[in-house]
Amino acid sequence: MPYIREILTDGHPTLRRVAKRVNPKEIREPLFQQLIDDMFETMYAAPGVGLAAPQINVSKRLFVMDVHDDEHEPAVVINPKIEELGEEIELREGCLSVPGLVGEIVRFKRAAVSGLDRHGEKIRIEGEGLLAQCLQHEIDHLNGALYIDRAKNLRPAVTDEEKETAEA
Ligand code: ZN
Repeated sequence: MPYIREILTDGHPTLRRVAKRVNPKEIREPLFQQLIDDMFETMYAAPGVGLAAPQINVSKRLFVMDVHDDEHEPAVVINPKIEELGEEIELREGCLSVPGLVGEIVRFKRAAVSGLDRHGEKIRIEGEGLLAQCLQHEIDHLNGALYIDRAKNLRPAVTDEEKETAEA
């Protein structure tokens, strides 16, 4: 049974560590499969559109994501490599590890990641909008970065629009 893990908040050292690559042989192990299930459970409970392993105090390079659109299935990506594509745009952003705040950040409009899925098979996800934003946000987590490091106009989420900002 999957269970909900505690989400670390800003100030915890694991959020600032560069996460380690996953040994592909580890992926099929029951404990690793449990980790993936727990990450989905934790993301949906939050609720969030993405969650990176360091956010639950596991310093490994994987994240889960579900942006709830028709084109993209919920996905886990292990050892992701990102390609940032298209022009840069300014977006409102929030983070499950920085509760209650939003700010504006410059991101690439389009992005793709390639990596391994939960069976150790190669996958690639590409898109724009919230999907691209989420991919870049999760990769930052794996590198020990938080959006607040370079966000502008960081503020408490007060308006409905601000409160509805997707978190990951
Ligand atoms: Zn985050």
